[in-house]
Amino acid sequence: MHIHPQQREEALDGASAARNLVSLLTPLLTDDTGYSSGTSSPVQMSTRDCRGILSAIQALVPTLIPDSPIFAAFHDGQVHDPLGGGSYAFQDDLVGPVLQALLNDEALSNDDKRRAGNRSDETSTQNCPTTNHELNTQRPIPLPNRPIVIHAGVQPNNSPHVGTIVVFCYAFSLARGIRDRMQAAAVNVDDEPPFVSVEITFVDTAPVKGEGTEIGGIEYQRSYRDVPGALDTYMADYEEVLYLLSTWSGIRVTTAFQYNLFSSPIIPSILRYFVAHHDLLGRQLSPKHGKLALRAACPIPGCALAEKHGQLNIYNDTNHAQNKTASPAANDPTITFHCPHHGPHTISVSNPADVARLEANAPARSLIRSMSHLLDTKAHHVRITGADYAGMYQEMFLYRPLAAWSAATGLAAGRTPHILYAPLIVDWSGAKLSKTLYVREGGYNAMKLFGTDGLGSFAQLKSRFGSNGSEGLRRIWEEVQGWLGDPKKLFRPFSLEYLQRVIIEEKKWES
Ligand SMILES: [Zn+2]
Repeated sequence: MHIHPQQREEALDGASAARNLVSLLTPLLTDDTGYSSGTSSPVQMSTRDCRGILSAIQALVPTLIPDSPIFAAFHDGQVHDPLGGGSYAFQDDLVGPVLQALLNDEALSNDDKRRAGNRSDETSTQNCPTTNHELNTQRPIPLPNRPIVIHAGVQPNNSPHVGTIVVFCYAFSLARGIRDRMQAAAVNVDDEPPFVSVEITFVDTAPVKGEGTEIGGIEYQRSYRDVPGALDTYMADYEEVLYLLSTWSGIRVTTAFQYNLFSSPIIPSILRYFVAHHDLLGRQLSPKHGKLALRAACPIPGCALAEKHGQLNIYNDTNHAQNKTASPAANDPTITFHCPHHGPHTISVSNPADVARLEANAPARSLIRSMSHLLDTKAHHVRITGADYAGMYQEMFLYRPLAAWSAATGLAAGRTPHILYAPLIVDWSGAKLSKTLYVREGGYNAMKLFGTDGLGSFAQLKSRFGSNGSEGLRRIWEEVQGWLGDPKKLFRPFSLEYLQRVIIEEKKWES
């Protein structure tokens, strides 16, 4: 580990730092403190004396482990949840506005149906989201009619850490909040409220570390689903977490894989749009490479290499080609992928077995999934994801391409995805707790030293609580439910230090 010269200097000076601290602490051992406050109680020592002790502690702490210095920071234990932006707007309620947004989607669909009928209506689509007269008159209290699915996704390449668990807890908590709100609203009404469930999608097309290669400046990867046994390592942890959260919330959970997304009957039509607009989408979705990162693993047995960024893909949009005399199958758009060892292999976007082989990087996957959700008029889809995806990421990679798609095709007019962002769990510097940090040299050791290692993974959390292994998860579940109950808390990050006391020690902070 690189040690700053100043840190080395501090480390070498450990003995004098210790002596200094001891000399400052010694008066505290007697009733007569000798401190300048003039009182006999050490708790009333002057700010200056207190600051002196804190400074002495800060000078000493880095000397304790000179090879890997640690640093002392202090706080007053006061928890603030300041209002502003989302925390102000949704201060009183989060579930209600989400339900209202789903109602608006149904109103738009109903208007679409009316327009499709023989009655022309001057009401424009843009005017509809705020009016739900039809729905309001159908039921005393308006409720959505379609089932509601709360989604979250995860790369199963580690035992879930607290950030992932928070996303899961948010999904189940929101699902329960929506279900309970609708049930309360449906009392004395004959209609049953629509079913609410959680769906967790495993990104089994994430690259397996150490299985990739780079040839001629092009990156190739092998995905989890193509490496035997790779998925098995942590799946039991995910299944246990999901089983417990489903049991505690009373919300049904389903799991899905990338195959399920690409097997949806709506996907071929979306892919035709992707093939026809791959140039624009490539520039929009990949600032680094300017190419659409669709992938397919090489079908040669035992190979399964997929070109990571889709830089060598060849798109054949035969719908726009001159060959109109060919058979319908020959007019299907195709994508040809490149294996460094076995050459090109092609999929037809109309062949379900071909399409099920497809993989996409995070922005392309998110866009395809969002389009498929927007086109599903049988269910509502709400997504929970980490707050690090909020803002520019979604505006650039999701909402702008969706707007262009909707304008070009007329599909999903006026509707956008429903996405809620889970608070990030951050370290002392404000960086999110990441899997990389957890496994990186030093990251794990420091968390162990600080007593926060239980937040690094579900496996660690379970071992922390010994025979009562699910206790840590239950505390995170309780905490996240508290955020839903006081929604301003959903619009800020939480530190490991905050969670250490709440989750590991089960104590409250002052707020
Ligand atoms: Zn190959």
